[in-house]
Amino acid sequence: MGRAAGRDIWMYPSTKSSTVGGFIGGGSAGTGTIEHRTTADGFVVSALVAPMDGSGDMRRITGDELDAYIHTYGVTGILVDVEIRTDPARDWAAVYGSFASYADLVAVHRSLLDLPQLPRLASADEPALVPTLTAPMTLDPTRFSLRVIAEASTVAEVERRMATGGEHVATLTDYTETDRLSGMSYNHPIWFFQRGNPDRTFFHMESGGTPIWDDPDAVREVYDGPVHLHLELFGHGPGAMIVAEYRGEEAVLAGIPKLDAIGVGVHSPHQWYVDRNVELAIETARVTDPKGLLNPGKLTAAPPVDTRVNIGVR
Ligand SMILES: Cc1cc2nc3c(=O)[nH]c(=O)nc-3n(C[C@H](O)[C@H](O)[C@H](O)COP(=O)(O)OP(=O)(O)OC[C@H]3O[C@@H](n4cnc5c(N)ncnc54)[C@H](O)[C@@H]3O)c2cc1C
Repeated sequence: MGRAAGRDIWMYPSTKSSTVGGFIGGGSAGTGTIEHRTTADGFVVSALVAPMDGSGDMRRITGDELDAYIHTYGVTGILVDVEIRTDPARDWAAVYGSFASYADLVAVHRSLLDLPQLPRLASADEPALVPTLTAPMTLDPTRFSLRVIAEASTVAEVERRMATGGEHVATLTDYTETDRLSGMSYNHPIWFFQRGNPDRTFFHMESGGTPIWDDPDAVREVYDGPVHLHLELFGHGPGAMIVAEYRGEEAVLAGIPKLDAIGVGVHSPHQWYVDRNVELAIETARVTDPKGLLNPGKLTAAPPVDTRVNIGVR
Protein backbone atom coordinates (compact mmCIF):
# COMPACT_ATOMS: atom_id res chain seq x y z
CA MET A 1 0.00 0.00 0.00
CA GLY A 2 2.80 2.39 0.91
CA ARG A 3 4.66 1.79 -2.35
CA ALA A 4 1.46 2.23 -4.35
CA ALA A 5 1.04 5.61 -2.66
CA GLY A 6 4.64 6.56 -3.52
CA ARG A 7 5.93 6.05 0.03
CA ASP A 8 8.43 3.75 1.77
CA ILE A 9 7.50 2.60 5.27
CA TRP A 10 10.43 3.51 7.56
CA MET A 11 11.05 -0.07 8.64
CA TYR A 12 9.61 -3.56 8.63
CA PRO A 13 10.66 -6.91 10.12
CA SER A 14 11.97 -10.03 8.41
CA THR A 15 8.75 -11.80 9.42
CA LYS A 16 6.60 -11.25 6.36
CA SER A 17 3.27 -12.18 7.94
CA SER A 18 3.61 -9.47 10.60
CA THR A 19 0.81 -7.04 11.34
CA VAL A 20 1.82 -3.48 12.11
CA GLY A 21 0.37 -3.87 15.64
CA GLY A 22 2.41 -7.04 16.17
CA PHE A 23 5.61 -5.42 14.89
CA ILE A 24 5.18 -2.42 17.20
CA GLY A 25 3.96 -4.57 20.11
CA GLY A 26 6.48 -7.40 19.75
CA GLY A 27 9.24 -6.41 17.32
CA SER A 28 11.83 -3.69 17.43
CA ALA A 29 13.99 -3.42 14.31
CA GLY A 30 14.46 -4.63 10.77
CA THR A 31 14.78 -3.44 7.20
CA GLY A 32 15.20 0.35 7.47
CA THR A 33 16.87 0.25 10.88
CA ILE A 34 20.29 1.36 9.59
CA GLU A 35 18.78 4.76 8.81
CA HIS A 36 15.82 4.96 11.17
CA ARG A 37 16.95 2.92 14.20
CA THR A 38 14.19 1.11 16.13
CA THR A 39 10.41 1.18 16.34
CA ALA A 40 10.85 3.38 19.45
CA ASP A 41 12.77 6.13 17.62
CA GLY A 42 10.04 8.20 15.98
CA PHE A 43 8.59 5.47 13.75
CA VAL A 44 5.21 5.63 15.51
CA VAL A 45 3.53 9.04 15.23
CA SER A 46 0.30 8.22 17.05
CA ALA A 47 -1.81 5.26 18.11
CA LEU A 48 -5.43 4.67 18.90
CA VAL A 49 -5.37 2.49 22.00
CA ALA A 50 -8.10 0.33 23.49
CA PRO A 51 -7.58 -0.14 27.25
CA MET A 52 -8.77 -3.19 29.19
CA ASP A 53 -10.44 -1.16 31.93
CA GLY A 54 -14.06 -1.89 31.08
CA SER A 55 -14.70 1.70 29.97
CA GLY A 56 -14.95 0.98 26.24
CA ASP A 57 -13.22 4.31 25.66
CA MET A 58 -10.43 4.37 23.12
CA ARG A 59 -7.84 7.12 23.24
CA ARG A 60 -5.39 8.48 20.66
CA ILE A 61 -1.93 8.96 22.09
CA THR A 62 1.20 10.67 20.75
CA GLY A 63 4.72 11.63 21.83
CA ASP A 64 6.27 10.23 25.00
CA GLU A 65 3.03 8.50 25.97
CA LEU A 66 3.69 6.01 23.15
CA ASP A 67 6.71 4.57 25.01
CA ALA A 68 4.45 2.45 27.20
CA TYR A 69 2.97 0.76 24.11
CA ILE A 70 6.05 0.07 21.97
CA HIS A 71 7.65 -3.38 22.44
CA THR A 72 5.58 -4.08 25.55
CA TYR A 73 3.71 -7.04 24.01
CA GLY A 74 0.28 -5.43 24.32
CA VAL A 75 0.20 -5.53 28.13
CA THR A 76 -0.77 -1.86 28.35
CA GLY A 77 -3.58 -1.92 25.76
CA ILE A 78 -4.49 -2.94 22.24
CA LEU A 79 -3.19 -0.84 19.35
CA VAL A 80 -6.31 -0.43 17.24
CA ASP A 81 -4.74 1.74 14.56
CA VAL A 82 -1.35 3.35 14.31
CA GLU A 83 0.09 6.22 12.30
CA ILE A 84 3.64 5.42 11.23
CA ARG A 85 6.33 7.36 9.42
CA THR A 86 7.18 6.94 5.76
CA ASP A 87 9.70 8.45 3.32
CA PRO A 88 9.12 9.30 -0.33
CA ALA A 89 9.55 5.99 -2.20
CA ARG A 90 13.02 5.37 -3.56
CA ASP A 91 14.26 2.76 -6.02
CA TRP A 92 15.96 -0.09 -4.17
CA ALA A 93 17.94 -3.06 -5.49
CA ALA A 94 18.97 -6.39 -3.96
CA VAL A 95 22.75 -6.68 -4.28
CA TYR A 96 24.51 -9.97 -3.53
CA GLY A 97 28.23 -10.35 -2.88
CA SER A 98 30.51 -13.10 -1.64
CA PHE A 99 33.90 -13.15 0.03
CA ALA A 100 36.70 -15.61 0.70
CA SER A 101 37.28 -14.51 4.29
CA TYR A 102 35.54 -12.89 7.25
CA ALA A 103 38.00 -9.97 7.09
CA ASP A 104 37.16 -9.31 3.42
CA LEU A 105 33.45 -9.43 4.24
CA VAL A 106 33.81 -7.05 7.18
CA ALA A 107 35.84 -4.53 5.16
CA VAL A 108 32.86 -4.03 2.84
CA HIS A 109 30.15 -4.40 5.51
CA ARG A 110 31.56 -1.61 7.66
CA SER A 111 32.24 0.64 4.67
CA LEU A 112 28.53 0.78 3.81
CA LEU A 113 27.88 3.33 6.57
CA ASP A 114 29.60 6.02 4.48
CA LEU A 115 27.31 5.69 1.46
CA PRO A 116 25.50 8.98 0.66
CA GLN A 117 22.19 7.11 0.98
CA LEU A 118 22.37 4.43 3.66
CA PRO A 119 21.28 0.95 2.61
CA ARG A 120 17.97 -0.33 3.88
CA LEU A 121 19.62 -3.56 5.00
CA ALA A 122 23.05 -5.22 4.97
CA SER A 123 22.95 -8.83 6.16
CA ALA A 124 25.86 -11.25 6.09
CA ASP A 125 26.53 -14.88 6.95
CA GLU A 126 29.42 -17.21 7.52
CA PRO A 127 29.61 -20.18 5.12
CA ALA A 128 27.93 -22.58 7.58
CA LEU A 129 24.71 -20.51 7.42
CA VAL A 130 24.73 -20.05 3.64
CA PRO A 131 23.27 -23.36 2.33
CA THR A 132 19.95 -22.84 4.14
CA LEU A 133 19.41 -19.25 2.99
CA THR A 134 16.41 -18.72 0.72
CA ALA A 135 18.14 -16.77 -2.06
CA PRO A 136 16.79 -16.86 -5.63
CA MET A 137 20.15 -18.13 -6.91
CA THR A 138 22.59 -20.78 -5.66
CA LEU A 139 25.03 -19.20 -3.23
CA ASP A 140 28.53 -20.64 -2.89
CA PRO A 141 28.48 -22.52 0.45
CA THR A 142 32.25 -22.15 0.83
CA ARG A 143 32.13 -18.36 0.87
CA PHE A 144 30.86 -15.57 3.15
CA SER A 145 27.61 -14.05 1.85
CA LEU A 146 26.74 -10.33 1.95
CA ARG A 147 23.28 -9.12 0.89
CA VAL A 148 22.47 -5.43 0.65
CA ILE A 149 19.29 -3.51 -0.12
CA ALA A 150 20.94 -0.52 -1.78
CA GLU A 151 19.36 2.67 -3.11
CA ALA A 152 19.63 2.90 -6.91
CA SER A 153 22.22 5.70 -7.03
CA THR A 154 24.56 3.72 -4.72
CA VAL A 155 24.28 0.33 -6.43
CA ALA A 156 27.33 0.75 -8.72
CA GLU A 157 29.47 1.74 -5.73
CA VAL A 158 28.29 -1.23 -3.64
CA GLU A 159 28.99 -3.57 -6.58
CA ARG A 160 32.46 -2.02 -7.00
CA ARG A 161 33.30 -2.51 -3.32
CA MET A 162 32.10 -6.12 -3.43
CA ALA A 163 34.16 -6.83 -6.56
CA THR A 164 37.26 -5.18 -5.09
CA GLY A 165 37.24 -7.22 -1.88
CA GLY A 166 35.54 -10.36 -3.17
CA GLU A 167 32.89 -11.08 -5.79
CA HIS A 168 29.80 -9.19 -6.88
CA VAL A 169 27.34 -12.06 -7.42
CA ALA A 170 24.18 -10.35 -8.68
CA THR A 171 22.02 -7.25 -8.60
CA LEU A 172 18.26 -7.75 -8.81
CA THR A 173 16.25 -4.59 -9.44
CA ASP A 174 12.70 -5.95 -9.13
CA TYR A 175 11.35 -4.47 -5.85
CA THR A 176 9.98 -7.85 -4.76
CA GLU A 177 13.58 -9.12 -4.68
CA THR A 178 14.39 -6.62 -1.93
CA ASP A 179 11.54 -8.10 0.08
CA ARG A 180 12.88 -11.61 -0.51
CA LEU A 181 16.35 -10.44 0.61
CA SER A 182 14.79 -8.91 3.74
CA GLY A 183 13.33 -12.36 4.54
CA MET A 184 16.94 -13.57 5.05
CA SER A 185 17.72 -10.97 7.73
CA TYR A 186 17.77 -10.72 11.52
CA ASN A 187 16.64 -13.97 13.18
CA HIS A 188 15.52 -15.70 10.02
CA PRO A 189 18.84 -17.19 8.81
CA ILE A 190 19.09 -18.90 12.20
CA TRP A 191 15.59 -20.29 11.88
CA PHE A 192 16.47 -21.57 8.37
CA PHE A 193 19.68 -23.13 9.74
CA GLN A 194 17.79 -24.85 12.58
CA ARG A 195 15.13 -26.06 10.15
CA GLY A 196 17.81 -27.40 7.77
CA ASN A 197 19.64 -29.29 10.54
CA PRO A 198 16.84 -31.13 12.37
CA ASP A 199 19.22 -33.70 13.86
CA ARG A 200 21.15 -31.04 15.81
CA THR A 201 20.09 -28.38 18.30
CA PHE A 202 21.26 -24.82 17.84
CA PHE A 203 20.39 -21.62 19.70
CA HIS A 204 21.29 -18.01 19.10
CA MET A 205 21.93 -14.87 21.08
CA GLU A 206 21.27 -11.36 19.72
CA SER A 207 24.27 -9.07 20.11
CA GLY A 208 25.85 -5.82 18.97
CA GLY A 209 29.18 -3.99 19.15
CA THR A 210 32.35 -3.39 17.17
CA PRO A 211 34.20 -6.49 18.53
CA ILE A 212 31.94 -8.39 16.10
CA TRP A 213 33.90 -6.74 13.28
CA ASP A 214 37.26 -6.32 15.00
CA ASP A 215 37.66 -9.42 17.16
CA PRO A 216 35.23 -12.12 15.99
CA ASP A 217 37.28 -14.89 17.62
CA ALA A 218 36.70 -13.34 21.05
CA VAL A 219 32.96 -13.44 20.30
CA ARG A 220 33.10 -17.06 19.10
CA GLU A 221 35.06 -18.17 22.17
CA VAL A 222 32.13 -17.24 24.42
CA TYR A 223 30.43 -20.54 23.56
CA ASP A 224 31.82 -24.05 23.14
CA GLY A 225 31.82 -25.88 19.86
CA PRO A 226 31.43 -24.40 16.41
CA VAL A 227 30.04 -20.88 16.67
CA HIS A 228 28.66 -19.06 13.62
CA LEU A 229 27.91 -15.37 13.13
CA HIS A 230 25.05 -13.83 11.18
CA LEU A 231 25.71 -10.08 10.80
CA GLU A 232 23.44 -7.08 10.50
CA LEU A 233 24.37 -3.43 10.04
CA PHE A 234 23.06 -0.80 12.46
CA GLY A 235 23.55 2.98 12.26
CA HIS A 236 26.57 2.89 14.59
CA GLY A 237 28.14 -0.50 13.96
CA PRO A 238 27.43 -4.19 13.58
CA GLY A 239 24.98 -6.55 15.21
CA ALA A 240 25.25 -10.32 15.20
CA MET A 241 23.15 -13.34 15.86
CA ILE A 242 25.66 -15.63 17.59
CA VAL A 243 24.75 -19.21 16.72
CA ALA A 244 26.01 -22.15 18.74
CA GLU A 245 25.05 -25.68 19.74
CA TYR A 246 22.61 -25.84 22.63
CA ARG A 247 24.22 -27.42 25.70
CA GLY A 248 21.69 -26.40 28.31
CA GLU A 249 20.20 -23.20 29.68
CA GLU A 250 23.05 -22.63 32.09
CA ALA A 251 25.61 -22.57 29.26
CA VAL A 252 23.43 -20.21 27.19
CA LEU A 253 23.05 -17.73 30.07
CA ALA A 254 26.71 -18.00 31.11
CA GLY A 255 27.58 -16.41 27.77
CA ILE A 256 25.84 -13.13 28.62
CA PRO A 257 28.37 -11.78 31.17
CA LYS A 258 31.21 -13.03 28.98
CA LEU A 259 29.87 -11.00 26.05
CA ASP A 260 29.43 -7.99 28.34
CA ALA A 261 33.06 -8.36 29.40
CA ILE A 262 34.37 -8.10 25.84
CA GLY A 263 32.21 -5.07 25.09
CA VAL A 264 29.43 -6.81 23.18
CA GLY A 265 25.85 -5.83 24.08
CA VAL A 266 23.31 -8.63 24.39
CA HIS A 267 19.62 -9.16 24.05
CA SER A 268 18.46 -12.63 24.95
CA PRO A 269 15.61 -13.97 22.84
CA HIS A 270 15.28 -16.85 25.32
CA GLN A 271 12.74 -15.15 27.53
CA TRP A 272 9.30 -13.71 27.05
CA TYR A 273 8.94 -10.98 29.70
CA VAL A 274 8.50 -7.27 28.93
CA ASP A 275 12.10 -6.05 29.00
CA ARG A 276 11.84 -2.42 27.93
CA ASN A 277 10.32 0.50 29.85
CA VAL A 278 9.23 -2.02 32.47
CA GLU A 279 8.42 0.51 35.23
CA LEU A 280 6.51 2.71 32.81
CA ALA A 281 4.57 -0.29 31.51
CA ILE A 282 3.68 -1.38 35.06
CA GLU A 283 2.54 2.15 35.95
CA THR A 284 0.49 2.44 32.73
CA ALA A 285 -1.06 -1.03 32.98
CA ARG A 286 -2.19 -0.27 36.53
CA VAL A 287 -4.62 2.20 34.91
CA THR A 288 -5.25 0.68 31.47
CA ASP A 289 -5.48 -2.98 32.57
CA PRO A 290 -6.21 -2.92 36.31
CA LYS A 291 -7.08 -6.62 36.46
CA GLY A 292 -3.95 -7.71 34.53
CA LEU A 293 -5.93 -9.47 31.81
CA LEU A 294 -3.63 -8.60 28.88
CA ASN A 295 -0.89 -11.20 28.39
CA PRO A 296 -0.95 -12.25 32.05
CA GLY A 297 2.44 -13.05 33.59
CA LYS A 298 4.45 -11.17 30.98
CA LEU A 299 4.83 -7.96 32.96
CA THR A 300 6.91 -8.21 36.10
CA ALA A 301 9.31 -5.83 37.83
CA ALA A 302 11.77 -8.67 38.40
CA PRO A 303 11.93 -11.11 35.48
CA PRO A 304 13.35 -14.43 36.70
CA VAL A 305 15.80 -14.64 33.78
CA ASP A 306 18.54 -12.41 32.43
CA THR A 307 17.42 -10.54 29.32
CA ARG A 308 19.62 -7.45 28.80
CA VAL A 309 18.37 -5.00 26.27
CA ASN A 310 21.27 -3.09 24.85
CA ILE A 311 22.61 -4.37 21.55
CA GLY A 312 23.46 -0.95 20.17
CA VAL A 313 20.80 -0.70 17.45
CA ARG A 314 20.07 2.93 18.38
C1 LIG B 1 12.34 -16.12 12.86
C2 LIG B 1 11.91 -14.79 13.46
C3 LIG B 1 12.43 -13.61 12.92
C4 LIG B 1 12.06 -12.39 13.46
N1 LIG B 1 12.58 -11.25 12.92
C5 LIG B 1 12.26 -10.07 13.45
C6 LIG B 1 12.77 -8.85 12.89
O1 LIG B 1 13.42 -8.83 11.85
N2 LIG B 1 12.49 -7.71 13.53
C7 LIG B 1 11.68 -7.67 14.62
O2 LIG B 1 11.46 -6.57 15.14
N3 LIG B 1 11.12 -8.79 15.12
C8 LIG B 1 11.40 -9.97 14.58
N4 LIG B 1 10.85 -11.11 15.09
C9 LIG B 1 9.85 -11.01 16.15
C10 LIG B 1 8.39 -10.99 15.54
O3 LIG B 1 8.40 -11.58 14.31
C11 LIG B 1 7.92 -9.59 15.39
O4 LIG B 1 7.60 -9.15 16.67
C12 LIG B 1 6.72 -9.54 14.46
O5 LIG B 1 6.69 -8.29 13.85
C13 LIG B 1 5.43 -9.94 15.09
O6 LIG B 1 4.31 -9.64 14.25
P1 LIG B 1 2.92 -10.41 14.40
O7 LIG B 1 1.90 -9.60 13.68
O8 LIG B 1 3.09 -11.84 14.00
O9 LIG B 1 2.64 -10.27 15.96
P2 LIG B 1 2.28 -11.36 17.04
O10 LIG B 1 3.32 -12.42 17.10
O11 LIG B 1 0.85 -11.74 16.86
O12 LIG B 1 2.40 -10.45 18.34
C14 LIG B 1 3.64 -10.00 18.81
C15 LIG B 1 3.42 -9.37 20.18
O13 LIG B 1 2.74 -8.13 20.02
C16 LIG B 1 1.46 -8.17 20.69
N5 LIG B 1 0.49 -7.58 19.78
C17 LIG B 1 0.06 -8.08 18.59
N6 LIG B 1 -0.84 -7.25 18.03
C18 LIG B 1 -0.98 -6.21 18.89
C19 LIG B 1 -1.78 -5.03 18.89
N7 LIG B 1 -2.61 -4.74 17.88
N8 LIG B 1 -1.69 -4.19 19.95
C20 LIG B 1 -0.87 -4.45 20.99
N9 LIG B 1 -0.07 -5.54 21.04
C21 LIG B 1 -0.14 -6.41 20.01
C22 LIG B 1 1.16 -9.64 20.98
O14 LIG B 1 0.42 -9.79 22.15
C23 LIG B 1 2.56 -10.23 21.12
O15 LIG B 1 3.03 -10.08 22.43
C24 LIG B 1 11.18 -12.34 14.57
C25 LIG B 1 10.65 -13.53 15.09
C26 LIG B 1 11.02 -14.74 14.54
C27 LIG B 1 10.44 -16.00 15.13
